[in-house]
Amino acid sequence: MLSSRRLFGTNGIRGVVNKELTPEMAIKIGSAIGTFFKKGKLIVGYDARTSGPMLAKAVISGLNATGCDVLFAGMVPTPTLQYAVKNHKTNGAVIITASHNPPEYNGIKVVWNDGIELSRAQEIKIEDAFFDEKIRFTEWNKIGTVLEMPGIIGEYIEAIKKHVDSSEIAKKNFHVVVDAANSVGSLTAPYLLRDLGCKVTTINANIDGTFPGRLPEPRPENLRELATTIKAVKANLGVAYDGDADRSVFVDERGEIYWGDKTFALVEKFFLKANPSEKIVTPVSSSTLVKDIADAYNGEIVWTKVGSVTVSQTMKKLKAKLGGEENGGIFYGPHQSVRDGAMATALILEIMAKTGQKLSKLIEELPRYSIEKGKVECPEKLKAKVLEELAAQVKGLNISTIDGVKIWFEDKSAILVRPSGTEPIYRLYAEAQNKEKALKLVKKYCLKLEKIIKNLKD
Ligand code: MG
Repeated sequence: MLSSRRLFGTNGIRGVVNKELTPEMAIKIGSAIGTFFKKGKLIVGYDARTSGPMLAKAVISGLNATGCDVLFAGMVPTPTLQYAVKNHKTNGAVIITASHNPPEYNGIKVVWNDGIELSRAQEIKIEDAFFDEKIRFTEWNKIGTVLEMPGIIGEYIEAIKKHVDSSEIAKKNFHVVVDAANSVGSLTAPYLLRDLGCKVTTINANIDGTFPGRLPEPRPENLRELATTIKAVKANLGVAYDGDADRSVFVDERGEIYWGDKTFALVEKFFLKANPSEKIVTPVSSSTLVKDIADAYNGEIVWTKVGSVTVSQTMKKLKAKLGGEENGGIFYGPHQSVRDGAMATALILEIMAKTGQKLSKLIEELPRYSIEKGKVECPEKLKAKVLEELAAQVKGLNISTIDGVKIWFEDKSAILVRPSGTEPIYRLYAEAQNKEKALKLVKKYCLKLEKIIKNLKD
């Protein structure tokens, strides 16, 4: 996972603990980060993983050795730490988390003073310090300090409450089941929801870094227990977080699990009703559903490359107030331009309270699409050429080449063809108004790609 000249992947530094990511490396990474920040004050925190405290101590040593002062937040969700950076005006933060990866993994995310993870250009500077031995240790009398940083969870919960109509939500006495994946979501969401007047039932809410309840990726197959619990206790809503609680997946009162596109489109609809002609930022991998809602409620869609940091950076650049991803990431700019699972939960409850409708009904009113996926093997060295050739073949259609090739057709079907970042394959995502059409589209483009690859090989 950690290749020869690169530390950062799409979501920070990730690896299997004590194999790919050792305490020794973490000290050096901390020193490289400290060299990049050149002194200053950084907040450090970790998620519920067993290796969190060990790696945090190592990173803090590295930061202190290069003259950075540390505010130590302990165990907190990623969005809580990101909010604290802005609220306390620090130079940045380091978060020890592997988000949705299995328990044997951990990782290091670096956050800039705007609360957003570093840009690729900034990451390269840290990699240069790490690989070229350019780390600058400080004099013995300039070594950084460590101060505890209590209270940031409370500040974060209060901030979220200010962005929704708390009394309107409280009037409904909602019953919500929270599945926190045995991780940091349990430190914020249940308390926020009780403050909002909800009755809260929790599952997988005891902190346990082995993640005994379920895997921290909130995929439908991991959320059966949540769905069953909602029905058993007759709750109004269920919500599941990933390992660092920046993503949230919602389940309705019947136990139906919705992938992020749908709940994002719902938030988008009510946001645009209140704020017409705003920009909505979303990766090209999102469903046409998101565009349909923007068209219906006078919003403007801005498509980006896939990746949460790109969505955040684009929102900041365009001063956009709402972003979202199909994996359950909702970015609410008035609070912060990063994914925030607890903020998303408050927004969904506000919509349910103000409309007086069940989540199932609210989702039912959205346009519906069938989604089908496919893959085609492709040697790494041909990947770039294949895309070029495909883009040339579909010229004249409504396409975007911002990330892979996305084509929108006039009958409202669409296909995205994207190279995998980790395997020698191309992935295809098709959607259409029924299953047959979506399947046909995937088949057609799999054949097209196979043909292009064959021609390039010959
Ligand atoms: Mg995450």
